Amino acid sequence: MSLHKNSLLIHGGIDGDEKTGAVNVPVYQTSTFKQDGLGKDRGWEYSRTGNPTRAALEKLVAELEQGKYGLAFASGLAAIDTVLSLFGRGDKLIISDNIYGGTFRILEQVFTRFGIEYVIVDSSDTSQIVDALDDTVKAIYIETPANPLLTVTDIEAVAEIAKRENKLLIVDNTFLTPYLQRPLTLGADIVIHSGTKYLGGHSDTVSGFVVVKDEELAQRLYFLQNSIGGVLAPWDSFLMIRGIKTLGVRMDRHVANAQKIAGWLTQSGFVSKVYYPGLESDAGYEVQKKQADGPGAMISFVLDQKYDYRTFFKKLKIITLAESLGGVESLVCHPATMTHAAIPAEIRHKVGIADELIRLSVGIEDADDLIEDLKQAIEASKK
Ligand SMILES: *Cc1c(COP(=O)(O)O)cnc(C)c1O
Repeated sequence: MSLHKNSLLIHGGIDGDEKTGAVNVPVYQTSTFKQDGLGKDRGWEYSRTGNPTRAALEKLVAELEQGKYGLAFASGLAAIDTVLSLFGRGDKLIISDNIYGGTFRILEQVFTRFGIEYVIVDSSDTSQIVDALDDTVKAIYIETPANPLLTVTDIEAVAEIAKRENKLLIVDNTFLTPYLQRPLTLGADIVIHSGTKYLGGHSDTVSGFVVVKDEELAQRLYFLQNSIGGVLAPWDSFLMIRGIKTLGVRMDRHVANAQKIAGWLTQSGFVSKVYYPGLESDAGYEVQKKQADGPGAMISFVLDQKYDYRTFFKKLKIITLAESLGGVESLVCHPATMTHAAIPAEIRHKVGIADELIRLSVGIEDADDLIEDLKQAIEASKK
């Protein structure tokens, strides 16, 4: 029976435990597995290579993304590390100009040491991707909506270029999750997630994922996952399965709240700019509508000059100043000094990450309380 996405969240992957009837996949908290004779295992050897709890989660995430092969990692960056390890000396990646700060950091400060090169483009303008192509380019790496300006890139259009030029298209789908966007169905080759965010959803577990359709690519990635070893632990795999069950109801509320807050901010008179692809006035609105089932729940904005952003952060009462996003609680951050501090100021300013920019991860509290909190904090920050 082919399931719709809300049912898949609950019954996808491996549903419960065959042996005992437990409705949840057990936590196989073991590092190794008994072999019945030389060369005779029962499908499991050692938990870095494979663990039944992790495997259930990997299968679930692969199904949600409508891919074939899923791999779970100890963090989003462990997933990114493994994907970047597909490349070698002299290979070049085209990356979007507002990718996650940590992705930029591992590329710039770790992988360039091994001779991997990159070129930065505004991927929302596909002509910039075409211009950056050459024989050394092996992959195009995008996030959409991207961090922190919520810039939308047309996945299908980029996939067409990637296919034609025989490059891999890698999409970090953390901000929308497969509940709202499935890049593999739009032509991407590799999907990456920080499961720490919406997939887990409760700000209690760090994890990462890679999903692909192609078997040969999957084999190379499994080899790297096992060789590098940044795998997700059994208990954390269990927590991720548990979190994913409520992804649909959470995302629906996240998006409804974000839509309401973005609308309120726009007409509040408090801000000079709101970035949210769910607003008709947003540059990414049309593409976002075409390729995803919703605009997500990340909003960035710049306070009007009358207000001091440092004071604003101090005056918030229920919205918490913290790194991360995608949890049930609303979080706010200051990209210039927090998530994107690893990006040199010069590049940051060039791509429009102003020092005054505020990023809001809208939680699933009552939207009216969130608006009330924003309002009182902004009013109290009047210069
Ligand atoms: C958080 C994040 C990452 C890194 O994931 P970790 O789980 O923190 O290692 C990568 N990409 C995006 C878009 C993120 O938000």
